[in-house]
Amino acid sequence: MQYAESVVDLVGNTPLVRLSSVTRSLGPGAPLVLAKVEYLNPGGSVKDRIAVRMVDAAEASGELGPGGTIVEPTSGNTGIGLALVAQQRGYRCIFVCPDKVGQEKINVLKAYGAEVVVCPTAVDPADPRSYYSVSDRLARETPGAWKPDQYSNPNNPRSHYETTGPEIWAQTDGRITHFVTGAGTGGTISGVGRYLKEQSGGRVQVIGADPEGSVYSGGTGRPYLVEGVGEDFWPSTYDRDVADEIVAVSDGDSFAMTRRLAREEGLLVGGSCGMAVAAALRVAERLTEDDVLVVLLPDGGRGYLGKIFNDAWMADYGFVEATGGETVGELLH
Ligand code: PMP
Repeated sequence: MQYAESVVDLVGNTPLVRLSSVTRSLGPGAPLVLAKVEYLNPGGSVKDRIAVRMVDAAEASGELGPGGTIVEPTSGNTGIGLALVAQQRGYRCIFVCPDKVGQEKINVLKAYGAEVVVCPTAVDPADPRSYYSVSDRLARETPGAWKPDQYSNPNNPRSHYETTGPEIWAQTDGRITHFVTGAGTGGTISGVGRYLKEQSGGRVQVIGADPEGSVYSGGTGRPYLVEGVGEDFWPSTYDRDVADEIVAVSDGDSFAMTRRLAREEGLLVGGSCGMAVAAALRVAERLTEDDVLVVLLPDGGRGYLGKIFNDAWMADYGFVEATGGETVGELLH
């Protein structure tokens, strides 16, 4: 019989798949472009990896013990990963998020059994009602509380150094020449990048994909719509020495590629995936058939059906032309 003891044991070991349609414009002599499909993790994103590693380390150090509570200001993929691990290991989970977060995301966290505290967005971070202040206070006042803090926890990049990096190296038989990924906390690019550099003696080129406006590509943190990537500050989980190059991608290009991945490659993925692939193709244009490029796709597209995959939302931002859509009457005529 073949089965896992717990869903936590299913985290990682995600497959690589060749991108053969969106790469067609590269023409003859193009490199092999492979996507690492992280939505196949049980919680649906790459963040399951850091959740397991951060919880393992906190248990080992004694920061998190039996009956403990995980407190983190997150509403996204990291929350899902932590909720899943917490549930399996018998911890309570409290997530603190700003009120701009959609109800669907809150419902996902609650479905896993987590508690969610919603705080006003329109207050200063130093205000006691802000979600930073509230999560600090809950962490202080809840007995047995532990705050993972994905932006400063070294086990975030370490999880990628220990799992994602070695998987990519083994899956490509050490033939990878270029690695492209987006950066939010920077855990993925720092951990995977460092591992691949070490294994290849510095041969593998590491390329960061970044939303236009984010600090990693020289911006000021000006707003952009792609979620989960880019920052307005430099987190300690981001290793500034690892990327050879940063490619800035516009929201429009990111979303157009996200839609193409669903329609042409059968990969229903999130906006940061489209951004990473758009950057990967720009890099691939200058490569040859001897090169092997791996691009990491962090999460799935289900969470973006009301946005990137919604024509009305896309038209509101001018990413697609507004169309009325056909009515049943028109289709019958
Ligand atoms: N894409 C999505 C959708 C994410 O949630 C994240 C995590 N913030 C990333 C990309 C970037 O990963 P990292 O934090 O490891 O840089």
